[in-house]
Amino acid sequence: MKLCERCNRPLKSQKSMDAGMGPVCKKKQAEEEAQAEFERNQLTIDEVLNDGKIENAS
Ligand SMILES: [Zn+2]
Repeated sequence: MKLCERCNRPLKSQKSMDAGMGPVCKKKQAEEEAQAEFERNQLTIDEVLNDGKIENAS
């Protein structure tokens, strides 16, 4: 029997076993990944802005 990678509860459906986690955890995982991607994009924007300041100063 396969267990959910996030909560270690037994997976009931074949679809969940294929995904490695249950539908609720899969949704949470997707939300976290979207949030992480958003934060990465924010960091990238900050880096671009900082580069612009350096260019303006020189
Ligand atoms: Zn789970």
